[in-house]
Amino acid sequence: MLFDFDDTVFDFHKKNRTYKDIISLLKALKKINCYLICWTGQENIDFVKQYLYENEIPFDSVNENPPFYQSNSRKIYANAFLDDRAGLKQTYGELAKLLLTINMKNI
Ligand SMILES: [Mg+2]
Repeated sequence: MLFDFDDTVFDFHKKNRTYKDIISLLKALKKINCYLICWTGQENIDFVKQYLYENEIPFDSVNENPPFYQSNSRKIYANAFLDDRAGLKQTYGELAKLLLTINMKNI
């Protein structure tokens, strides 16, 4: 799945936002082996990766397709998209339900 960087996990507009719920969701998704792609318009990818590491935000790649997805397209693969400008609330809710369902089946 794909998650946006600016204003989804990083306080781009410096409004003292923390994004704790999104980060917790990403950690839970990583625990069930979701492949997490950070999607960003930031030019400095090293800064993005450093921020993600320092804030313990799990990710598998930044602006790159997963190795199991073979394509010559420039479009990045996504089966779910967490983005502050693209239905974040709805996607968050759907993924939280997915986690609940999986966890209930593991009881
Ligand atoms: Mg954004």
